[in-house]
Order: sequence, then structure tokens, then C-alpha cells
Amino acid sequence: MHDDERHSHNRRRIWYAVGYILFALILIYIFQQFVIGPIATPAKQLDYSEFKTDIAAGLIETAIIGPNQITGTMKSTDPKVTTAVDYKTNVPIGADTTLVPELQAAGVKYSFTGASSPIGSILLYFIPLVLIGVFWYYIYRRSLGGAARGGGIFGVGRSKAVQVTPEQVGVTFKDVGGADEAIAELREIIQFLKTPEQFAKLGGRIPKGVLLVGPPGTGKTLLAKATAGEAEVTFFESSGSEFVEMFVGVGAARVRDLFEQARKVAPAIVFIDELDAIGQRRGAGLVVGGGNDEREQTLNQLLAEIDGFNTDITRPVIIMAATNRPEVLDPALLRAGRFDRQVEVGNPDLIGRVQILKIHSKGIKLAADFDLQRAARITPGFSGADLANAMNEAALLAARRHAHAVTIKDFEAAMERVIAGLERKSRVMNELERTTVAYHESGHALVSQLVPHAEPVAKVSIIPRGRGALGYTLQMPTEDRYLLTEEELIDRVAVMLGGRAAETTIFGTISTGASDDIEKATELVRRMITEFGMSDKLGSVRYAGQQLQYLGGATQDSSQLSPHTREIIDSEVQKIVTEQYERAQVLLRGHRSALENLAGQLLKQETLDGSAVGEALKVEEEAASEKAGAASVREKD
Ligand code: ADP
Ligand code: MG
Ligand code: ZN
Repeated sequence: MHDDERHSHNRRRIWYAVGYILFALILIYIFQQFVIGPIATPAKQLDYSEFKTDIAAGLIETAIIGPNQITGTMKSTDPKVTTAVDYKTNVPIGADTTLVPELQAAGVKYSFTGASSPIGSILLYFIPLVLIGVFWYYIYRRSLGGAARGGGIFGVGRSKAVQVTPEQVGVTFKDVGGADEAIAELREIIQFLKTPEQFAKLGGRIPKGVLLVGPPGTGKTLLAKATAGEAEVTFFESSGSEFVEMFVGVGAARVRDLFEQARKVAPAIVFIDELDAIGQRRGAGLVVGGGNDEREQTLNQLLAEIDGFNTDITRPVIIMAATNRPEVLDPALLRAGRFDRQVEVGNPDLIGRVQILKIHSKGIKLAADFDLQRAARITPGFSGADLANAMNEAALLAARRHAHAVTIKDFEAAMERVIAGLERKSRVMNELERTTVAYHESGHALVSQLVPHAEPVAKVSIIPRGRGALGYTLQMPTEDRYLLTEEELIDRVAVMLGGRAAETTIFGTISTGASDDIEKATELVRRMITEFGMSDKLGSVRYAGQQLQYLGGATQDSSQLSPHTREIIDSEVQKIVTEQYERAQVLLRGHRSALENLAGQLLKQETLDGSAVGEALKVEEEAASEKAGAASVREKD
């Protein structure tokens, strides 16, 4: 351990030295180019003989005679140059006794100077070197001393947090939709910030840190700010990445500075976004290269600050932080008295989405028939930020068509844009490709209509979009689902394979367009078997491996499974996928004319409403019963 430390210390010293040299060289170059250069344009070097003839020619104007060199100004030999130029020439060995009389005769202004030491010019070069040296040494010292006190030169140790006064915060819980549970938990914090004495009197444990946990865009920052708005306290907004710096000690100094500022204006809320940037588990050893001890110091400083504040109960400071990866945080952060309150913020449910859409359509003129409920229904899985984005995009689309109000159609287009990137209508597909995609998507749509437990189709399209999808079938859940039965999952698998089944039914071959479907179906079936215990053969045993955290990504460790079990899993997956694929094929073969009808319409119109699927089936049924009727009539004859 000790050796290690010394080792890293030495290495750091070497790096500082290398950095110093490089930096100094660059600075000297700059200094020479822009400071010394303009002052001293290089003097013209004359041979002594030239010098003597120039005197005779009357070109030399002044001469300063030193022991080694004569310098001065002379008329330019170039007729275009009218100003005097500098010259220099070397003094001959042994005195040139005729020089002074010649100068005198030519009317040159001359003088003598003592030994011109080179120290003057060296000093000039030295100034930047010394300056950088001092600067570098300062930083080096700080790095050794760890968290040095104070802001330091150039404010490197000053926190970059944005301070928002209570009057400026401008958001309250009214501006947050679909987060009622989180809000309920935050009310206690507000009460504490508003009346800390009363809180203490009642004997409640003083809250210090609140960790908001949830995926990006779910309104964590917004909630923290709204908490400050509700409590009418100052809000300090910072992000964990602001504390991550190259120089050891800077991050820690910034943390200290941030809390110092907060204490000055308390009551206040300090918000740290992306807490994982500084709060990662210490000594994980996964970080490659340096920067480890810097982060550790910053984290230690943060812990010290959390432990240290709220000594003055009347002026409380609450620290709020956000992360979407709570599992990587150092356990020390989550200990009692620190971030012991965790508030989950998830993607909003249907009611939440209606609320959020309502909030974000406040300044937007919606058409009379714009149904927020419907807009919320077609956006499951959207985060608050996605919804805000879609609503804004819808307004832009409406403006582009010079409409007076935003319609649900605008919103749908905006939503699809948010989902899958911009529509790329310009992309050219050849006729065969288009036909294949039309049948493929019709296959998904029809199967989902034909199986009992699938969600209804909202839209089928063969318009190519981003992320490589050539078409898409949008299914619209009627409600948010948290639990799914085996039958529903199986039907999902059949729908996923419906595209490929349609291709084989019609063309007898399969295209590469089905690979994504196959992957998804296989993955779902594998999870059904190994995680949800939905296989008769394997029973309710979890076979999925543990989730391992590996350099940020998660992998499955299935090493504890016996080869035999793995074989069974593979064969079960294969069996179920094949069964569902055949099921989809049978369904589509039985409704071939509906499939052709749908694909034909798609080729013509590119995008169809979900109701077209049901209608295609109805048309087919009617045709069939007519035929049957005709046949029975014929039989009677
Ligand atoms: P996070 O911090 O969780 O990534 P933000 O708070 O930065 O998310 O959200 C970004 C924006 O999305 C907000 O400014 C707001 O406009 C919108 N938004 C997100 N969630 C909500 C919500 N629950 N209610 C209203 N607006 C939201
Ligand atoms: Mg945020
Ligand atoms: Zn598909």
C-alpha cells in the first residue's frame, strides 16, 4: 500500500514535470513570437568589410561600439525602404584604429558601450519560464496537500453551481405531473425547510439528503426545483460532472465552496444532478488510468459536508441529488443521516401522462377536438421530457401548416417523430422491397387482430424511419400493464413472428427484414422460460444468471447452469418459437385474402389506421359467406 502510494506519487511528479516543460516551451514560443519579436526586429548582419564600405558610402547613420559587436542603424540599400534599418557586425580581433576617424569623417553618430552581457536577453526569455514555474508549482502543491483551502487562483476551486433565489425559482408542484407519490414524500422536506424549529420540537429526525432515482427525463431536476419553489428557499443547481477535474483537490474544493455558499443564504436546497459521477463506489478498481484519488477526495468532501451541516437548526440546508444508476453509488452515501431518503421517479402512467400533457399544452392552442386522453393513451413509455418534446413538436408542425390550432394528427406525427426519428419519405425502396414490407407489416397487424390476447393495432405503415426499420406496426395498449399472463406473452410472440410468417406465406422466402423480430421473439421466450417459470419442462425455477455489473454494462452469468439444463432451455425456446411461428402461418393462410387486401391498401396509402385491419377481415368474411351462400344455392339446384 505504502509502496503503491509512493509509486503513484513519483509518477505524478514526472507527469507534472513533463507537463511543465511542454507548457513552458509553448509559452516561450508565444512570447518570442508576439512579445520579443515585434520589439526587436532582427538586425541585418554585415560583414566587417561591408560595414566599412557602407560607412564610406554614407549609409551608416549611428553606431554603438562594444567590445565584441557594433550595432546601429543605417539607410536601407533597398530604395523602396525609406526607414532606417538595424544592422550589426562583429568587431575585428585587435583594434581597428582607422574606424573612429572614418566614422567621424562620414558624420556618423557613434558611441561606446561596455561589455554587453547576454544576461539581458536571457532574462527576457526567463520571465515566462519563472512565471509558469511558479504557477505549476502552486498546482503541484495543491495536489499534494489535497483539498487546499479557499478558491485558489483563477477560481478553479469555485463551485460552478447556479444559484437561484426563491423569487427566481418559478416552478412549483403544479408544474410537475404524474409524480404524486414523489411529491407526497417531498412535502415533509418542505415542512422542515419552512418551520425547522417546529420540526425539531416534534422530535422528527432532521432530514438531510434526498436521492431522486429514475430514468432520464422523468422530471427529477424539475421536482428538486419545484421543492425549492414550494418551500421558497434558494436553489443551488449543480451537476456531479462539474466536480470531476483533472487536478486532485479541485473537486473537493468546489464541493466545499458550494456548501459554504449554501450555508450563507440558508435555508437552501443544494441539488446535485448525476450524483453517480462523483458518488461511485470507492475502490471499485474499474476506472482505467488516473483520476481515482481525485474522485475519492471529492466524495469524501461531500460526505464530510453532509455530516457537518444543519448544526444550526434554524437555517437548514437540504441536499437533493439525482441519479439513474443508484446501484453504482458508494454505500457510504446511502447511510442513515445522508441520502437516506430515496424517492423513485418513474415514467408516468396514463393519468400522469394526461397531467403532463395538460401542463405542457398550457401555452399551446389545441383544436377543440384534441383529446388529451387519447394523446396519453398512444404514448405509453414516454417520459415527461418526451411528452413535453412531442407537444412542442406538434405545435411546430401545426405552425408549419399555418393551422390555427394543434390537432391530434399533429400530435400523432410529432409522437412518431419522437419515437423513431424523422420520417424519411425520401428514401427510395424498390417495388419488391415495398411489397415485401407491406406484407410483412400486414402480417404483424393481422396476427395481432386474430390472436385473443394481443393489444389492438393503432397504425400500420410502410414509411421507412430511422434506426433501420422499413415499416412499423403500432400497437395501442388500452391501459398500462404491469403484469402479463403467459397467454398474453405467447400471443405477443406470435405477433412478432407474424411479419415473417406473412413473407413465407406469400413469397415462400424470408427477407432479412425479419431478423429484428426473431431476435425479440427469441429473447422474450427465453425470459418466459428462465425468469417467469413458464415452461412445463423446467418449472418455476429461475435459470437466468445473475446480473453482473461489468464496466458499466450488465451481462448475464449463466455459468452455474449445467450443460444439460442449458440444452433443455435451448430446445424449449426453439420449440415455443417454432410453435408460435407455425401458429402465425396457419392464421395467415386462413386469412390470405384479408392479408392481400391489407397489403394492397398499404402499398397504395403507405399508412393505415388500425381500424383497416378489422375491416379487411370483415370484407373477407362477407365475401366468404356470399360464396358459401352461392354454393348452397347451387347445391339446391
Ligand atoms: P430529469 O432531471 O429526470 O432528467 P428533467 O427534470 O430535466 O428530467 O426534465 C426535463 C423536462 O421535461 C422538464 O424541464 C419538463 O419540461 C419536462 N418534464 C419531465 N418530467 C415532467 C413531469 N413529471 N411533469 C412535467 N414536466 C416534466
Ligand atoms: Mg435532469
Ligand atoms: Zn417485423
